[in-house]
Amino acid sequence: WIDLGLCLDADTHVMRRPRLARPKAEAHKYSRGMVAIVAGAMPGAAALAVTAAGRAGAGYVLLLGSATDRLPHAVVRRRWADGALDDARIGAVLVGPGLGRDETARGKLSAVLAAPHPLVVDGDALHLLDPAALAGRTAPAILTPHDGEFAALFGDLSGSRIDRARAAAASARAIVVLKGAATVIAGPDGRVVVSETGSPWLSTAGTGDVLAGTIAARLAGPTDAFAAACAGVWLHGEAARRAGPAFLADDLAAHLPQAIAQCL
Ligand code: AMP
Ligand code: MG
Repeated sequence: WIDLGLCLDADTHVMRRPRLARPKAEAHKYSRGMVAIVAGAMPGAAALAVTAAGRAGAGYVLLLGSATDRLPHAVVRRRWADGALDDARIGAVLVGPGLGRDETARGKLSAVLAAPHPLVVDGDALHLLDPAALAGRTAPAILTPHDGEFAALFGDLSGSRIDRARAAAASARAIVVLKGAATVIAGPDGRVVVSETGSPWLSTAGTGDVLAGTIAARLAGPTDAFAAACAGVWLHGEAARRAGPAFLADDLAAHLPQAIAQCL
């Protein structure tokens, strides 16, 4: 018995397999969903997120940053510049994995927050983010902290992990994916879903970057942001179940297509 600090009430739902739509017959790469990943000097984390976004169904993955790692050839890479996000076809922006925490990173995060795209904020960006900065945005934002990042962002909230995720989502007016052995997904509207379907083998470096890319891919398509967060968590957990035991984060994304096949 492991006490996960959960206390399910009547409004809390346990994660179920999502239903995902197949691409329509007339689909093209932009209608499938274009993900822009804003990265920095740490190429490994960004590469994991990029690969995951592609494997989780994005039609187009654009990497904005200086990552020099080995990347799938299908990924388009551009250097970060002013106006890099001025593309109305972008369906979701992921900022954080491999971003760094210096002034350059801070500037990129400000530009991302000022742009009108749906957002996933993970990793380094969670250390730079002031949650109050989300209040003026109209597009949805999904924050994906583990417990340490959550505490740094929201301070010492009281109650169960569900209570804390719910309070944070309401105050930041964002969807909060509080990661861990049980992942809690809370919406600013009070919706809460708990996933215990992952695998303890996920406790290895880089799996969070894969999750962030997976959620960004789902968010970029035509879907509700809360549903995108839930689908991303489910697909990530199912990919881990298929990849285990003792996989590397690098191996995880290869199992996402089979996880998606379970949902069609
Ligand atoms: P990060 O902490 O950003 O590297 O992300 C780690 C990922 O692995 C998250 O998706 C966590 O939910 C997942 N994870 C970590 N430890 C466990 C565990 N013991 N059981 C299930 N999932 C886990
Ligand atoms: Mg992480």
